[in-house]
Amino acid sequence: MGRSGGCLCGAIRYEIPETSLMEAICHCKNCQKQAGSAFSTLAGIKKSDFKLTGEPKVYVDTDTDSGASVERFFCGACGSPIYSALPSQPNVIYLKTGTLDDTSEFKPSIHVWASTRQNWVEIDPNVPQLQKQS
Ligand SMILES: [Zn+2]
Ligand SMILES: [Zn+2]
Repeated sequence: MGRSGGCLCGAIRYEIPETSLMEAICHCKNCQKQAGSAFSTLAGIKKSDFKLTGEPKVYVDTDTDSGASVERFFCGACGSPIYSALPSQPNVIYLKTGTLDDTSEFKPSIHVWASTRQNWVEIDPNVPQLQKQS
């Protein structure tokens, strides 16, 4: 058993295991820009467990709050963000969980870059926050 998902147009599809390494919300400005939204919803997945079909495009984002470059993979046909990867963590990918076919099991356990969250966003006080990522 696992979970599946894909981009809006269906050119990119993937499968991941039932459980993630971690699930988080990222409020950094670059995630807001790339998602065209208030934040990114992310699931850390072991790269060897990430089964991808289709060929996403990549944007190498070097102007990040952390200073580390982020590879942002997206569908070149419909623009859906699919996942991000950090060259410093070659064995993990960070899936954009809005692309899951079934998002009902997503449960973020931490908010990162909470200091740059949009004004209207209220964070559940029971969920830990990092004001910055590192
Ligand atoms: Zn697409
Ligand atoms: Zn971010």
